[in-house]
Amino acid sequence: MSIINAPRGTRDILPAESWKWSYIIKTAGEVMKNFNFSEILIPIFEHTELFSRGVGETTDIVEKEMYTFIDRGERSITLRPEATAGVMRAAIENNLCAQGNFAKLWSWGPMFRYERPQKGRYRQFYQIDAECLGVAGSSADIEIISMSLELFRRLGLKNLEVVLNSVGCEKCRPVYREKLLNYFNAHKKDLCETCLTRLDRNPLRILDCKKENCGKISDDAPDIYESLCDGCRNHFEEVKTGLENLGFAYRINKRLVRGLDYYTKTAFEILSGDLGAQNAVCGGGRYDNLASSIGGGKIPGVGFACGLDRVVIVMEEQNCSFGKIPAPDVFIIANENNKASAQILTYKLRSAGISAVNDIAGRSFKNQMRSAGLCKYACIIDQDKNKNKNKIILKDMAEGSQIEINQDEIINYLNGKL
Ligand code: AMP
Repeated sequence: MSIINAPRGTRDILPAESWKWSYIIKTAGEVMKNFNFSEILIPIFEHTELFSRGVGETTDIVEKEMYTFIDRGERSITLRPEATAGVMRAAIENNLCAQGNFAKLWSWGPMFRYERPQKGRYRQFYQIDAECLGVAGSSADIEIISMSLELFRRLGLKNLEVVLNSVGCEKCRPVYREKLLNYFNAHKKDLCETCLTRLDRNPLRILDCKKENCGKISDDAPDIYESLCDGCRNHFEEVKTGLENLGFAYRINKRLVRGLDYYTKTAFEILSGDLGAQNAVCGGGRYDNLASSIGGGKIPGVGFACGLDRVVIVMEEQNCSFGKIPAPDVFIIANENNKASAQILTYKLRSAGISAVNDIAGRSFKNQMRSAGLCKYACIIDQDKNKNKNKIILKDMAEGSQIEINQDEIINYLNGKL
């Protein structure tokens, strides 16, 4: 029978890698705690309508990247392509932002998009998400951007660039959209095919096109900052000043519109110089109209999504530390005759909170000794030679020194050392 492989665009995160992921998620949890964000777990699948209405019908994600299926109850279900819409749905459904309350939430997990796989781009990928819901002021934007940068600082990422823009709001964006439409219509013949389809539906997305010709046309397109209303302009200035006060550098890119319709005012990306074509490790912004587009009234929000797969790539490339390589503290070495004693001692250590292993594969003394080389201590049970059945040898693997110790003293002894 033929071998079944993982579907294209998915991959297994094997033990040689998974501990690095755990390190990043643990670090993220610590940062979130410092910023007073609480963890939220939301479903991996949602009603398709949440994304078509929330993320936007004219976005690439909704038009061509969603994993959508009809379930056995004839409902249209979609594997989540991003987390923000789901977090907002949860907040609305559970009244987290009722009566002027606000909620600071974070989550992590797999997202699904039918994209062309390449380095740093997968069909199942992982994001760390943070969302601040219920706050309209720029303090929340500053908190979100600075939190993502603090996470990257703790992980040791270098060579990052913050790119910032304002995409306006429901008041001023229609005016800008009109100006863009007129401009691009006049340059219709030079636009790529994809941009032609974007023209009527979502002309702002043309600004994002990576094709050379479209880029050149966009360079001379009307400037969004000339169209921003006072509210959006002030908000943008406050975000910039806030970042400067915290000592963060940023680059303004008035063509940064991002692929999701729900952004209003702030849009930002954090780029790495060590990633190649898929160079964004994090993206986010403000989405004050998302709640109303999914029927939840007026709940402003701002958040970020950080691409875990890409963070791992950059950290490996930059030789960042992932903390300690996980290995048990103690390896209990015993021959076949002493198997039961080894099992009992291992279990005792484990119950006392000490990570311990004994050989479960019947390997030779020499091979057990070799495996013990990864641990801090080797504990040798050699009751055949020792008259006192309670005595064992404890070897410090780094120093090479060893002592003889009573089995019932070992937990106390190790607790003082580990
Ligand atoms: P987005 O949800 O599109 O704003 O993306 C936020 C972040 O998720 C990006 O900056 C990437 O780091 C990551 N990301 C998005 N799409 C993918 C993908 N297909 N594969 C891996 N990472 C992704």
